[in-house]
Amino acid sequence: MYTRYLSRLFSAMAGPRPVVLSGPSGAGKSTLLKKLLKEYEGIFGFSVSHTTRSPRPGEENGNMYGTSKASVQAVKDKNLICVLDIDMQGVRAVKTTDLNPIYVFIQPPSMNILEKRLRDRKTESEESLQKRLHAAQVDMVISKDPGIFDVVIVNDSLDDAYGKLKDALIEEIKKVQKTNLSS
Ligand code: ADP
Repeated sequence: MYTRYLSRLFSAMAGPRPVVLSGPSGAGKSTLLKKLLKEYEGIFGFSVSHTTRSPRPGEENGNMYGTSKASVQAVKDKNLICVLDIDMQGVRAVKTTDLNPIYVFIQPPSMNILEKRLRDRKTESEESLQKRLHAAQVDMVISKDPGIFDVVIVNDSLDDAYGKLKDALIEEIKKVQKTNLSS
């Protein structure tokens, strides 16, 4: 009984698990995130990135490409789910920490559809578009490695993809809602 109480207390103190959203540019991460933030106000937070510096003593693996472990912890301490919208390099960096996030990969339905969405978004020059498509191909292969992502969501129908994203996060969302109500 007492052990169970303590373990619940400690996990509550540690705050909700962060969420890593990764996936090719144009896969729909911002679109999905926007929906999530709209439906769940006051549940999610963002880490404040800073210029890269060397880790301070005792801050082993603390510096994850501009997102410090401390800034993620600061969001957790506010009882918010910290959202990390990061590339594959960032994912690898987070993997070396004890942040224990939920790793979600957002995948476009196909390379052709990704290209179309990127073109329609009209944010890319032809050169950056080609670069992004190449990077996307690499990421799609890496994302298939078992053990990197907890969930891979194909963003075909936006509503379906959003439903799957919610499913992946609902446990943490409920924890935050519950703690907010009881405090
Ligand atoms: P990311 O943040 O991953 O780079 P965006 O959210 O900007 O991607 O999405 C890229 C483009 O695709 C945007 O113009 C967006 O409106 C569109 N888009 C996103 N999801 C879908 C979807 N399920 N169906 C059709 N278009 C989508």
